[in-house]
Amino acid sequence: MNQDEESETIQLGCRCGQMRGVASGVKPGSGCHVICYCRDCREFARFLGRDSEVLDAAGGTEIYQLPPARITLTEGLDQLRCIRLTDKGLFRWYAGCCNTPIGNTGPASLPFVGVIHNFVVAPQRTTERFGPVMALAFPKQAEGQIPEQGSRLKSPIGYLMTILGKLLVWKLTRQGLPSPFFDAEGNCRCDVQILHPQ
Ligand SMILES: [Zn+2]
Ligand SMILES: [Zn+2]
Repeated sequence: MNQDEESETIQLGCRCGQMRGVASGVKPGSGCHVICYCRDCREFARFLGRDSEVLDAAGGTEIYQLPPARITLTEGLDQLRCIRLTDKGLFRWYAGCCNTPIGNTGPASLPFVGVIHNFVVAPQRTTERFGPVMALAFPKQAEGQIPEQGSRLKSPIGYLMTILGKLLVWKLTRQGLPSPFFDAEGNCRCDVQILHPQ
């Protein structure tokens, strides 16, 4: 690994240390740093019993959005777990050893993962590399006063254009695979529990 690659690599890991990984190519503009205030993200944090560590004062989850191919899980792969709130919900991945949330994805065809801050080792340094929070998702669903963000936030439409543009690039450059979450056929690497089957 050369110096540039090393400086763009961040360490990932669960709270108890059984699951570890790395994310590469992390630099300003390489992904989206957002806070999601949607109810579903809160339900996931509460399902894990980790809401006090995951959620901010207004019930938001801090997320780094990247293409899956930039993430490699290196240890504790047998601890990978997944839930969906409903049959059509996002795939929400976590470490079964200690209920640390890992991230959210769509199906394998969508080259996207929102890595949850708790799975990032030294999130302060990650924010330096990734840049400050650029957008708030679903702010209307916040549970209280949203903490002040010291940066200039994108408008909802500005953020939507940014993430759609990135998704297109990640799709065209095939950064959906290999994925730590889905095999080459698009099957989940672990069983998926659906919390509220319809
Ligand atoms: Zn763990
Ligand atoms: Zn959300």
